[in-house]
Order: sequence, then structure tokens, then C-alpha cells
Amino acid sequence: MSDDLFAGTEAAARFVEVALPVPLRRRFTYRVPAGTPLPPVGSRVAVPFSGRKLVGVVLGHPEAAPEGVKRIKSVAGLIERDPVFEPELLQFLLEAADYYLHPVGDVLRAAAPALPTEALRALRQGGFLEDGEALAGPVVATRTELFARPAATPEGRVGASQQVVLALVAERGEVSVGELRAHVKDARGVVRRLAERGLLTVEEREVPTDPFFSQPVAPDRPPEPTDAQREAIERLTRALDEGASTHLLHGVTGSGKTEVYLRVIAEARARGRGALLLVPEIALTPQLVHRFRARFGDGIAVLHSALTQTQRALAWRGLRRGELHLAVGARSALFAPVQNLGVIVVDEEHDPSFKQEEGFRYHARDMAILRAHRAGAVCVLGSATPSIETRFRADREQVALSVLPSRATARSLPDVELVDLKRHGPGPSGHPLITGPLHRALERCLADQGQAILFLNRRGFAPSLRCEMCGEVAECPACSVSLTEHRRAQVLRCHYCDYRTAITPTCPSCGLRGLTPIGTGTEGLEDVLANVFAPAKVARLDRDTAAGGRAVESVLDRLRRGEIDVLVGTQMVTKGHDIPGVTLVGVILADQSLAFPDFRASERTFQLLSQVAGRAGRGEREGKVVLQTFQPTHPAIACAKHHDYGRFFQAELEARRELEYAPFGRLVAVRVDAGDERRAQEAADRLAERARAHPAARAGVVSILGPAPAPIARLRARFRFRLMLRSPQRRALRAVARALADRIDEGLGSARAHVDVDPVSML
Ligand code: ADP
Ligand code: ZN
Repeated sequence: MSDDLFAGTEAAARFVEVALPVPLRRRFTYRVPAGTPLPPVGSRVAVPFSGRKLVGVVLGHPEAAPEGVKRIKSVAGLIERDPVFEPELLQFLLEAADYYLHPVGDVLRAAAPALPTEALRALRQGGFLEDGEALAGPVVATRTELFARPAATPEGRVGASQQVVLALVAERGEVSVGELRAHVKDARGVVRRLAERGLLTVEEREVPTDPFFSQPVAPDRPPEPTDAQREAIERLTRALDEGASTHLLHGVTGSGKTEVYLRVIAEARARGRGALLLVPEIALTPQLVHRFRARFGDGIAVLHSALTQTQRALAWRGLRRGELHLAVGARSALFAPVQNLGVIVVDEEHDPSFKQEEGFRYHARDMAILRAHRAGAVCVLGSATPSIETRFRADREQVALSVLPSRATARSLPDVELVDLKRHGPGPSGHPLITGPLHRALERCLADQGQAILFLNRRGFAPSLRCEMCGEVAECPACSVSLTEHRRAQVLRCHYCDYRTAITPTCPSCGLRGLTPIGTGTEGLEDVLANVFAPAKVARLDRDTAAGGRAVESVLDRLRRGEIDVLVGTQMVTKGHDIPGVTLVGVILADQSLAFPDFRASERTFQLLSQVAGRAGRGEREGKVVLQTFQPTHPAIACAKHHDYGRFFQAELEARRELEYAPFGRLVAVRVDAGDERRAQEAADRLAERARAHPAARAGVVSILGPAPAPIARLRARFRFRLMLRSPQRRALRAVARALADRIDEGLGSARAHVDVDPVSML
């Protein structure tokens, strides 16, 4: 390893402060042996830790060892030469860790790309990684791709293909040969000849092999913005030059929010700045990636769970080196090392999947605001149904507001018909969830060659099974939830721990008779529809049918090509799909999400219903929505019928004000679990005692609610209790939460506990 990288630091301190992936909210000091270069801040090192070797991140170079520590261990090896985290990103991650009271080492591990395989192997075998350089290169072979950039304007004659290539390259700045193949024959040859004439420069680079890039995409022609879009674009463009700011782009479904994102990101690029686009579920948004590739070409890092570790590491490196300027992905893309960040877009900012629900429990939308703020970037929160918190802040002018009030195309929002399930029984099919009005709407839709999307938020054939003789319900042995029947797979499954068991011919409890399915899931509904509406082609989209990005894309492609007439599915069908042939959307049971033990249940329901309704009538023909419910007068449902966000927002805000819920109060959840119920309860009691003894609680500034058994009282064979801290005062709330985090660090015997700041899930 060359020494010049570390020149000038040799004489300085010989200690490093390291963050380790251990469940302790503290940092550790190690000595750097003489002769080893001082690892820079933000780089990874291997260190000995209680008999193991761990990989940590260097946070600083203290002058001296901490007082009172007798023997300081030495760093075992350096992992990489260049810091994996640059200072700005590292600083942001430290702040995020602090905000969520989460161990910083775990945050850094969650954010960094996986280590090269060789590094891990060497670590496992107890080897020393003296030479980080050998491990910093690409880990597994990748595809290389030729990129062309403009070099000079032609003086002589150029052929037709050459002209096309030159025009594209001039327009984009850089185009891959793979993309050019969509436009000209023998793209490589054309590019080579142009390069020989000095009209292009070419560069061979590694690119990730990736399902999102398997098909070439033709460049699009940006549409002329509508007046509302133009106003939003201009405002956001101005903001790019004015330092950090947060904006809510509140636009109804189909109003052209994506077009605004594209334009703003293009403006950022024109200023040499990078961009980050966060979406709720990247696997569900192949179409969105498509649109970004059509506008910006393939120089995009698409971060999704199907990437191999190598692909992820390459994407990280491409961004880190400034070769890629745009990262697109779900919540964890928040940590992508985009250089010179100009804009972060959070699409569907209200979506609960931006909240990570295990380990480092962060909210990507909230942290996007923080990251943009620290980077002097513009944060754009887009939604048709903004979260109550975000819209509240916009109304108070803490967040700038741009509104797109109508659809970008001439289409109006679809008409919504409410079907009261208390009054409407089964239609001609005899199935209780296919009422007469829904049945007729489906018939009409199919007769008009339209397509339908039916939303039912329950997977499987039937959500539970009961014995009609003894009343026993089939339950998961490890969780306090009922097992779902999956008839195709011939199993009963727990949707929480994935326990599976064969369907028994008779009740396991009394043995008298077989179990009866209770209720209907997507699989059951699919079967009924295929029978009743034959020969219509019925398909299903849920987590059982979609194992990975490609499966989702193929279902959506088939739907787009008209090969599917009726698509049945869970929440997966509600997300931003833009399928022009869909003229009917049916919501089978709107009440499901209202039944959740959660103060946001009403908000979620309104958002879900608005989202799914927005899938209808995006093409030439008017859309219609049939919404079946037991509670037609509930504000979430009545307001969704009228696409009336404003009225829903006001009603919801008043309800929250009374109960001191967000945005009026803040919450911290503390969850405790143990294999033994009594131990879990005791640990929860101990934490509650500590919380109640805190001055902020004694003064009544912070309310301590509970402990109480969690809504799912037993999960994966552990008993769960929950304690809530609530306060309108952030500082006071944090002080109590921190005291509990410290108490948790002291240990709770066999019980485990974690702190969840701004919890989203109430489970
Ligand atoms: P949203 O993200 O708000 O749901 P999209 O950006 O997907 O909306 O736009 C909905 C549809 O309208 C898309 O088919 C898009 O191509 C089209 N569209 C967007 N902006 C315009 C425009 N200015 N002129 C014409 N069509 C547009
Ligand atoms: Zn289970």
C-alpha cells in the first residue's frame, strides 16, 4: 500500500475511535500499531472484540487513550484504502443514529455495502488484513459496457446512423452502446468509427448486470408541462440555487408528479449535482425506473433487494466516484453516496414502508429531510394523499407547498360507488364478497373490453380455519395469530413467522370433522372470479405470486398488454401503476385496514383507498371504482369516495388534537419481549418504573402509557409487552427515551427491548 495517501498523518495520534456493530450505544478505542498507516475517518477496520474479530468504522483519531482503560487492543487490519463513508454522509448517519437512539455501529453497518467476500473469509479464518488494497477491487466479474461522449462537432459528411448516435450523445452527454442499439444497427461499429474520426470519446466501464436494465429503453420526449407542473418545476428549480429546503408536492393521482421529479432532477444534473429518488417498493415500480432511464439513460444506480452484493458494491462505488449521478431505490437508498447532492425526492411520502421496522428503525422520509438539509439540497415529498404530519407542516409553512390539482391528461378522477355490505348480500355468484353492484360493474367492464383491478388486503385462500364442531381456530404455535390457508400450496401458514404445516383432514383438536375456511383471501377470490367470469383471464399479484422484481414486472406487463382481464391482489396492486386499460377498480373490503389497532388506521385507509382508486381511468376511457364497506359513513371512506383530501385532513386533525397524537404529540414506543411471559412483563415493568421516575414524567410533561401486552401478544415464541412515551415536547420525550435506552444497555436478563422513536407500527 502506498504511504502517500496517509502522508502527514503519520506523526499524529496513534489511536482510532471505532463504531462497532454491537448493541451498545458507545464507541471503542483501538491502537494503531507502529508501521500501519493511520486509517482515515470513514474507513472500515477489523478489530478484536471479546474473542471475535469485528468490522467497524473509524470515527476519529483521539489524541490519547480514554482514561481508566488499562490495555488498549490494536487494530487487526484495514479493510479499505478509501473511506467507505465520506465526511458528509458519515456526519448524517451519526445524527440519524443519535435521533433514533440506535447504536451507531449498527447504523453504519446497515448503511454500508457488504464487505468483499475475500475480506469476510479472511476475517472468519482469523487472518489479518494488513493489505486493504487487495480487497478493495471488484469482487466478482461484471459486464463491461462501452460509453460514448461527445468530443467534436463533425465538419465532413456523417451517415444517417452516425447522425442519430451523435444527436443522442450530444443530448445526453453520455450514452452506452447498449442503449444505442435501440436506435441503430451495429451501434458498436458506428461508435468506433465516430471515435476514430475524433467525434466521440469512448470509455469501457463496468456496469452492474441487473433485471432493471435487461431491456433497452428508448429515450422519451418530455411532454409540455401543464401550468400547475410548470409552477412547481420553476419553484423547485429556484430552490436548487437557494440552499436547503423541503417541499410538499401534493398532486392527485395521475397529476404528473413524476414529470415534475424528472424535470427537477434534470435541472440538478445541469448544475452538476446528484439526485436521490426514494420509492416505497422498488420491485413494484419497474415502470418508474423505465421512465427515468428513458429520460436520463442508464447512468442510474437502481438499488433493490434482488441485487447481488457485488452489484450493490458496484453501484455504491459508481456513486461514490461520481460516475453515477442518480440513485433510485426503496428506503435504504437513503444512504447511497450520491455526490454533490442537489435533490432528494421521496415519492408517495405517506407510505408506511419508508419506516424500517426492525434493527435500525428509521423513517426514510424524515431522514431524507435531514440529509437534504445537511447537504444544502432540496427535498421533495410527493403524494396524492400526504401524511397528516407533512400536510400539517405545509399548512404552517414549515414546508413549501406546490399543488397539482387535476390529472395531467384530460381524464377526471374516477367516479366512486359505495356499496354498503350491511345492505348488499351476495350477487349472482353467491359469494358474500362479490355483491350485486360489483358483479354488474365487472360484467360491464369486461363486456366493454376493459380491465379490472380488485384489491383485497389478505393473502391466501382463507385468512383462518375453524372447526365447526369444537370451535377451535387453527393458530400458529409460536404466535398469537391464526394460520392462513394456502390451498394451492396445500399448507397452513403463519404470515408473521412463516411457520407452515400440512392441512389436516380433520380438526387436530376434536378430530370430528374437517376445518372450515373463514373469510376470503386473494387466492380464494381469484378462484371464484375465474369460475364466475370465465373465460375472462384472472391473475393475482401478492407476495405469494411475486417472488422478486421480475415476477411483478411480468404480471404488470401482461396486464399492460391486455393479457389479463382481472387482476386480484393485495396492497401491491394499489401502488403507482399506470395502466391505461384499467377502467374498473374494486375494493373488496374497505374496512380491513380500519380495524387495525393503530391511531393511523383511518389515515392509512383513506390513503390506500385513494391510491387504489387512482389506478382507474388513466387511459382514454373513464374509470369507475366500486368500494365495498360495512362503514360507508366513516370519514376515511366517505372522503375517499369524493376524493376529498381536504375534508379528511380536517376531520383527522381534530381527532388527533384531542388525543395528542402526531402532529400534536410525539411518541416513542419501547417494546420488550422474552421467551417467558413473566420475565417479559417484569422487564417491561422495570422500564416503566424507570420512565415514571424521570423528572419529565413526574412533572407530567411526558406521559407513560403501559406497559401492556402488545396487540400481537406472542410472536416467534416470545411474549411481547409495549410501553409508550408520549409528549408534545420533543426534548423532554427524548430525555426519557434516552434514559430507557441506557437502562436497556445495562441489560434486562433474558428479556430484550428496543426503543422505537416516532413509531409507525403499533404492533
Ligand atoms: P403521478 O406521478 O402524479 O401519478 P404521472 O407523472 O405518472 O402522474 O403522470 C400521469 C400520466 O400523465 C402519465 O401517463 C404521464 O406520462 C402523463 N403526463 C404527465 N405530465 C404530462 C403533461 N404535461 N402532458 C401530457 N401528459 C402528461
Ligand atoms: Zn407464527
